[in-house]
Amino acid sequence: MSKQAPASQPPPAAPAEVIPEEKKPEKKAKPKAPKRRIQVYKLYKVEGETLTRLRKECQRCGRGYFMAQHKGRLTCGHCGYTTFASKP
Ligand SMILES: [Zn+2]
Repeated sequence: MSKQAPASQPPPAAPAEVIPEEKKPEKKAKPKAPKRRIQVYKLYKVEGETLTRLRKECQRCGRGYFMAQHKGRLTCGHCGYTTFASKP
């Protein structure tokens, strides 16, 4: 047998559940490194009306893609093309 409350009466209020607050150790947020903007101005040098590009351009990608200078090698960040400096 199932008991059904009459429709005219509101259902009995459920007892307020006491949710125990679990004390979890707060996760320490790692300090984020500040976002660095691409410093394009460092790739060019303007002298009067002439513009010189300070980095070597990528052979595969063409103009506008500069090679990053590392120790003993040049790398393109776009395609991954790498040239190694020949040892003397
Ligand atoms: Zn490239």
